[in-house]
Order: sequence, then structure tokens, then C-alpha cells
Amino acid sequence: MGIETKACPPDRRVGVYLCSGCGIGECINCDQLLQVASKENKVPVSKASSWLCSEESVELIRKDIESEKLNRVIIGACSSRFLSDVFKFDTDVFVERVNLRENVAWSHKPGDEDTQMLAEDYLRMGIAKVRNCELPEPFKKEINETVLVVGGGAAGMTSALAAADAGYEVVLTEKEDKLGGWLNQLYKIAPSHSPYLEPEDTGVEEFISKVESHGKIRVIKSCLIEKISGEPGSFNVELKINNSATENLMAGAIIQATGAKPYDPGNLTELGFGIIDNVITGSQLEKQFLQNGNGNNGKAIFEGKKLKSILFVQCAGSRDEKHLPYCSTECCSTTLKQALYVKEKYPDALIYIIYRDIRTPAQLELFYKRVQSEENIFLTKGEVVNLSKSKDGSVLVDIDNTLLGEKIQIASDYVVLATGMVPSTFVGNIESETLEAGSTAPGAGQTEAAKTLDGKKAAASAEAGAKILNLTYRQGTDLPTLKYGFPDSHYICFPYETRRTGIYAAGSVRAPMDISMSKADAYGAALKAIQVIHAAKEGKAVHPRSGDQSYPEFFLQRCTQCKRCTEECPFGTLDEDAKGTPLPNLARCRRCGICLGACPERIISFKDYSIGMVSSMIKSIEIPDEDEDKPRILAFLCENDAYPSLEIAGRNRMQFDANVRVIPVRCLGSVNTVWIADALSRGFDGILMVGCKFGDDYQCHYIRGSELASKRMENVQEKLKQLVLEPERVKLFTLSIDEYTKLPGIFNEFVEQIREIGANPYKGM
Ligand code: SF4
Ligand code: SF4
Repeated sequence: MGIETKACPPDRRVGVYLCSGCGIGECINCDQLLQVASKENKVPVSKASSWLCSEESVELIRKDIESEKLNRVIIGACSSRFLSDVFKFDTDVFVERVNLRENVAWSHKPGDEDTQMLAEDYLRMGIAKVRNCELPEPFKKEINETVLVVGGGAAGMTSALAAADAGYEVVLTEKEDKLGGWLNQLYKIAPSHSPYLEPEDTGVEEFISKVESHGKIRVIKSCLIEKISGEPGSFNVELKINNSATENLMAGAIIQATGAKPYDPGNLTELGFGIIDNVITGSQLEKQFLQNGNGNNGKAIFEGKKLKSILFVQCAGSRDEKHLPYCSTECCSTTLKQALYVKEKYPDALIYIIYRDIRTPAQLELFYKRVQSEENIFLTKGEVVNLSKSKDGSVLVDIDNTLLGEKIQIASDYVVLATGMVPSTFVGNIESETLEAGSTAPGAGQTEAAKTLDGKKAAASAEAGAKILNLTYRQGTDLPTLKYGFPDSHYICFPYETRRTGIYAAGSVRAPMDISMSKADAYGAALKAIQVIHAAKEGKAVHPRSGDQSYPEFFLQRCTQCKRCTEECPFGTLDEDAKGTPLPNLARCRRCGICLGACPERIISFKDYSIGMVSSMIKSIEIPDEDEDKPRILAFLCENDAYPSLEIAGRNRMQFDANVRVIPVRCLGSVNTVWIADALSRGFDGILMVGCKFGDDYQCHYIRGSELASKRMENVQEKLKQLVLEPERVKLFTLSIDEYTKLPGIFNEFVEQIREIGANPYKGM
């Protein structure tokens, strides 16, 4: 192993501009820093200003760029999170911000030798960086701007209309022979407009006609997706229509709005389903009102009886580790709506609703209050512990843990289970909606998978078998899922993203939600689809590196076809040929650099982020002699959470050890172990890596970058053994941005531990 650095090409003309304002000048000696630039690094232009962001100073830089033909400019001042629009020059000038304010002056002792050394090293690192990188040039290619929407329910139709109204051609495919999806199964929907008191008509027919008559929307019904290959801007889509004809089309972005299905009530035998014939589901009740709602009293279920009482059981299968561990979100408002249907048709019937909590988000609270105030509708908190059939044919419902702490029993003509939902990507083939009222048979298509649903199994089965999009990606046919079969997305930072760039999930396939929420969600997906089309057109990245023009380049002559990059890329960017050589689909790439970190041959690089560039930064740092008691710690901080955390700590004037030199990295997964090994060989006393949290509730912006980094630590530990160095010299920490107060402590404690271990024996060699 060995760090590869190249001599600075002569065409890289660097200008260094330092600010002594904002307390920087009182903390460090800027003249000495200028010497580092001009004398030590032979930078042709280096200047300091007491107010670098002033119009005059920025104008001076502009003039220097022109007269001195500078193409690399270093701004030694505040964090790059500030004033990026001020320090913006011609597009052929690479601007590097060296943070002397938050990372040095505001977080270290003023006038101190160590603080000065820290500032000088950061400047050296900045100069090394700009000399060893190039301005990224975006790859550009012809793209198709059509948005493909898969699924013609409420979310799909809303996405289609949103994209079409924004001027984009839309192809909307639906597997059934009619648009409308779950809306077609509903009598009414929960209120979505002020004053939020009455259930509303679904409006499905008008909705469908609006979509079908839109000049920019092509609707293809009875259509399945046979295959999708390609990348954002040029997805190649093969359709199967009417089970026979095939058609190929191109799309720039894809929205999957294939909805959800009810949880199989056949699993709810403990709530009497399939055992007691007058235990039914909310879907069955809804269907009967839909079929008979206009003036006919829902007779198919309640035929020949005068309905005296009905009891709704909330969370039937939801929020239950044995069934669906999550809240299905819409069951509470659905029950409230159905209670009103029953009351309208049977004004004298007693209607009981047994709930754990009523969850009616936002304005639906008004609806809840209205239903709560209705005569004959009784809402009671409690847990249904047993159901049995009485001699008179009614159901006896035993309820425990009521608000008053008493056990109660209610006799009811019918019991309605408010069952939850599972995403359409779940492969259990649940067909509860096909059950007839009063049926005691479980869903015809019920499978073992459905019976034993748990989050991890559901996620695995959805990834392996959903086969809705039929992607030809090496990582699988569908959107990868995180939990319970719902597509993965970053739950804090970008809930709309999936792990397949340019393909977005909308509506209840993405997360449990009701019709109104699905429609709102669909707008978000349409905007993401439009955004990715524009990014693909300009060769730029989407979130989280929105607008980034760099992309991974592969020096394939030296590729050993080890497949690490293709296997570790979290976004399915890299296909491979028969031998295992990576075949990049660059528009899928999120520019995380995980492939760069993975490649043992070190042949993957970005114009502005490469093995050579970071290596040259490491090399530029001065390593004091062992007897100076100045340990040198190298810290790789993920630029998504850890590095901003450090700047926030600085902004809050938190102090941290001046012996640590920080290199921000795209993701902890982009850290190639060669950087660590060579830094140790060079005499660094310790290496810190700080990234996002991983595990089930991961916070890594690139899904598993920090997890991969942690796995690669095994190789690092091996290297440490070979070098006969203590394993404690390299440590990995995870933290989220709101834990910024912990970072100074992590730095300080690590430096102390390294002091205790002693100096790296390779120092000075
Ligand atoms: S940069 Fe990230 S997304 Fe792009 S190919 Fe490499 S690992 Fe995949
Ligand atoms: S990780 Fe490097 S050597 Fe391995 S297949 Fe990818 S490019 Fe080739």
C-alpha cells in the first residue's frame, strides 16, 4: 500500500485569501499563515483582509482572478455554510473554504501555539486539496422527460395530474381495467375539507374523468410492468397490456403508487374472525354500504334483522407485535365515518367503539369530536380480551383495561374489526377484500408469509418477490424496503427518496396513510420526479448532494473484477458485465463515494474527491516530533451530520483539542482504508471516524455507508496488527446532528487516550 499523490500540475494557479474579521485575527497570526501560503507552498497570490466578505474585498479577489489567471481560490474565513453566494466566482474557478472561524478561532485558545499550528495545517490541507482536484464537469446526455406513474388509485391519479399540470407528459398504468383503485371500494371518505365534520363523497368518477381527459396523460389499463432498465432520464420500460400485447416506452422518472391492501383478517382468530360469523371487517362493512348505501340499508350484511347494536374494535391487528407492529393510520377515521353510516341507517342502534387511542391527526380531530358528541355512539378506551357467541346469536365482547379500570362485557349484534393495511409490495397475496360478509373462511390467497408477518420477513419478502416494477437492477426487482414491506427512505432527512434514484413511492405503498394523505403525498412524489428529470438533464446529483456535478470515474484497466463496488453501492448504480467489471449508470448515482471507499485497487475517483486528493491533504499536515507532546489525530467526519456538528459546536464556542485535524468526507463509507493505513505509517498517533448512526433506525444519508465503514474496521484492525500498533488508535463513533455537544468531548477524550497509549512509533520515519 502507499499513498498516491501527484505533483501539482502547473496549470493550477492558487490564490489564498484570509479573513481576520469575526475574531480570527485576534486568535491567530494571519501574517504567519500568509507565509505558509507564499513561502512554504509558493502560492502566487496570498492576501489578508479584515473584512473579506465586504464588496471591496470580493471585488479584489475577482480582479486577481482575472489579472493573475487564478483558477483555484482558497477562502480562509468562516464555514462554507455561510456566504456561499458571496464567494462565488466564474464557473472555471474552484473555490475551497478553509474554516478558520468555527473550527479554529471560535473553538480554540487564542494566541496559543497549538491553535496557530492547527490553522496552518488547515491552510496546508486546503492548498493540497485544490492542487489535487479538478473542477467537475457534468456528464450530459439526451433524456426523456415523461413521468411514468404505476398505479391508478388516488395517489397515482394525483401524481399524474400534478406532473401533467406542470407540463410533463405522463403515462399512467393500472393493472385493473378501471382507474380509481381503493377509492372504488369506498362508500365515502373521511372529511378532507373545512369544517371537517361530515364524511365526503369519494368523487372517484369525476376524478377518473379528469385524468382520462387530460391532454398530457396517457392512461393504460389492464397493464403490468414487464421490465424496467436504464436510469433517470432514460428508463426503458416494457409493458404488458391485456395480458398479451407488449409495448416499450421511455420515461425520465417513475412514481410507484400501487397502494396498500387490508391486513388479512384470517390472522385475527383471537378477535373471532373466521370463528364467529357476525364478526366482520371494516372493509366488508364499507363494501356493503357502497353497494347498498343509496337508500338501501346495507341489507347484505344485516339482512332480516333489526340492528340493535354494533361494536367496532380498533387496532385489530395494528400496533400489535403478533400482527402489524405499526399504526395503520387511517383505521380510526374510517371507523368514525362508518359509525355515522350506521347511525344514519339505524338511528336507534347502539354503536360502540373500543379503542386503544383514537388517532385522528390534524383537522380530523374536529371530526372525532363531532362523532364523540353523537347520541348512541359510545367511545370507550379498552382492550378486547375475549369474544364469544351468546345463545341469542349476539357477540359477547369482554373488555379489560378500560379507563375506569373495570372489566366490562358488551353484547353486540355485530363486531367490526378495524383492520390495518399492508403495502402492495408485501407478497402475502392477501385477499381479504374478496371475502364475503359473514364468511368464516380465511382469504383465498392467504399464505404462510401472510400468517407470519413480521417486519423483517415482510421487508425481505417485499424485496425478493413483489415484482411490481420488475427492475433489472442487480440488487433486485423492486424498491428495497426498510421495515414491514414499505420502501426504504431516510425517515428524517428525505422521506420521499428511495434507494433507487428517479423512482419514488407515493401514497400508502410508501407508508400507511388515508386517501387525503395519499393525495398530498402524491404531489411530493411528482415534484421529486420533475426534480430528478432536471437533474438528469444537467448531469447533476439529487439529494443529498443536490446539484453536485462530480461523478465516479473508473480506471478499469486496473479493475480486478472483485465486485466490491457493485455489491456495496447502496443505490444500485453499478451493473456489471459477465466478468464482474462494473458498468456504471451514472444518473442513478448519488455521489456518496462508497464505491471509492470500497475499491481495494483504489481506481475509483471523482474530479474533486479522490484517493490522491485526500492523501495529499493527509501528507500536507505537519507531524511534530515525539518529544514535543503534540499528538496528531486525524479525524474523518461525515459531511452530512458529523462535520456540521463540529461547526455548530464551534459556533456555540465549545472548545476542543487543537491536536485534531479534520477532513470532511462525503460519507464515512467513502473512507478508503488506505488513508488510515498510510496516515498511521506516516506517524499520526490516532484516527477518529465519526459518521451517522447505523442499524435498524439508521441515519446514514447513504443508507449503510457508516455501517460499511464499521465493517471495514476489521481490515483496519488487521493492518494495525501488521504494523504492531494498538487497536485503540483507530476508533469509530456515530452521532446525529442534534448531538453536536458530544463531539468536543469525543475529540478531547480520544486525544487523552492516545496520550496514555503513547506516541506512534512510526513518527519521524
Ligand atoms: S458514488 Fe455512491 S451511488 Fe455512486 S456508484 Fe459509487 S457507491 Fe454508488
Ligand atoms: S471495487 Fe475496484 S477493483 Fe473491485 S470491481 Fe469495483 S472497480 Fe473493480
